[in-house]
Amino acid sequence: MDPIQTMVSERKESKNVCVIGAGPSGIAVARELRREGHEVVVLEQNHDIGGQWLYDPNVEQEEDPLGRNPWLKVHSSIYQSLRLMSPREITGFTDFPFSVKKDRDPRRFPSHKELLLYLKDFCEWFKVREIIQFNTKVLYVGPLNYGVSSEDLKWVVRSKEKKSDEEVEQVFDAVVVATGHYSSPRLPCIQGMDKWRRRQMHSHIYRSPEPFRGEIVVVVGNSFSGQEISLELVKVVKELHLSSKSLDIYEGLSKVVSKYENFHLRPQIDNLQEDGSVVFTDGSRIIADTVLYCTGYNYSFPFLDTKGIVVVDDNRVGPLYEHTFPPSLAPSLSLVGIPKRILGLPFFEYQGKWIAELLSGKKVLPSCEEMMKSIEEFYDSREAAGIHKRHTHEIGDFEYIEKYGELAGFRKLEEWRKELCVSSIINYFVNLETCRDSWYDDEKLREALQSPYFTQLVGVDLEDVSF
Ligand SMILES: Cc1cc2nc3c(=O)[nH]c(=O)nc-3n(C[C@H](O)[C@H](O)[C@H](O)COP(=O)(O)OP(=O)(O)OC[C@H]3O[C@@H](n4cnc5c(N)ncnc54)[C@H](O)[C@@H]3O)c2cc1C
Repeated sequence: MDPIQTMVSERKESKNVCVIGAGPSGIAVARELRREGHEVVVLEQNHDIGGQWLYDPNVEQEEDPLGRNPWLKVHSSIYQSLRLMSPREITGFTDFPFSVKKDRDPRRFPSHKELLLYLKDFCEWFKVREIIQFNTKVLYVGPLNYGVSSEDLKWVVRSKEKKSDEEVEQVFDAVVVATGHYSSPRLPCIQGMDKWRRRQMHSHIYRSPEPFRGEIVVVVGNSFSGQEISLELVKVVKELHLSSKSLDIYEGLSKVVSKYENFHLRPQIDNLQEDGSVVFTDGSRIIADTVLYCTGYNYSFPFLDTKGIVVVDDNRVGPLYEHTFPPSLAPSLSLVGIPKRILGLPFFEYQGKWIAELLSGKKVLPSCEEMMKSIEEFYDSREAAGIHKRHTHEIGDFEYIEKYGELAGFRKLEEWRKELCVSSIINYFVNLETCRDSWYDDEKLREALQSPYFTQLVGVDLEDVSF
């Protein structure tokens, strides 16, 4: 891919910006926009900040089990027992360490509740909460004056307040879409799915293993959620069948399969039959009580009208320059948090600062043609590397993250951050069941905890700090 291009200018303007969503990416971007002097309002459909990390237990009464409604009622797909996959030292924002706090979950891989508390601390520390309008669902975002040059574009945002049901229309100079992409279920097409009368659900709806006690359950998909949910289900169900595209599995999963007698690895499902049979592609069959699809999520922006410019095609959101800007609508429209397999929170800060400086005129994007060319080159390079279109936004590359960070003037990622990220991923694949409670990178961890990143705020009182 071409090096990311950017130019610097002296001009500085303040814009009126709407951020949609108060999950980790929305709050990170809101802070950066405000720091740059923009007027910011964050519209959040839920009653609190946190996005995915705002656990919602009442999902079964609310949502279709397969989550097929484009306007989902429940946003979070987090289940009750979930602990972070990424260790806390590498998870936090670049200037606000995710440190252990008194009377809180002190674990290195804490529960989801601890990350929510950390995000709340961030909002309090940087006074972000005061610019968030809660219980406000965005129903429509579209250009007010489509056809004018991208610098003069303005955006209409129509939203609905939960209590009053009243719809409000506002006009903004810029909109940042920060609505996440782990809510809208991606479902496979399996023959007989529509006729199968027993329980079928997507992991978006899964919360705890108890409702499945004593059942025969088929989990479809052996990526992260498929493996993790299987691991807790196997302890209560009669039989657990994990159906996967490939039976070529990592050491960690292989240890689990040999440890639990009721854990069976299966190939893909060929068809589902009305009598409850699940037939696999190798011809084997079982009668199951539940099929649980852990088959991932789709990008979905049901509120966004870009006049057909931004489309989601086989889970590629495009065209987006650096996974962020639709060239002909940039920089007044941006989408954040689209990349996957990245260090999320730091990346969201990078995106926020770059967007803020582009909107203020401090930085300038390349021409629309150059941005389109860069996107095409990126697609070509992915295709040449044999990467399927639906994995367009899976980055998994520190170099890219750092290059992106440079745009906004961030320092390179600390070496320990990268090393701890790699060691925790390796530990996950080798020791799936135990990786959150025992690890082999203590030396690096010590180095991290002694670095200025962790020691900078020791003894600082929130009241004494102004931002
Ligand atoms: C099971 C699971 C495990 C994960 N584990 C990890 C982990 O260990 N470490 C890690 O770093 N990441 C993990 N993630 C990824 C996680 O999604 C990100 O950490 C992070 O939540 C992404 O932030 P976001 O703000 O982009 O999106 P989200 O957290 O999804 O937040 C989006 C926000 O937008 C709001 N919104 C959506 N639509 C509208 C609308 N129309 N109007 C108004 N508001 C709207 C939502 O209510 C929500 O608050 C995990 C995700 C899942 C599902």
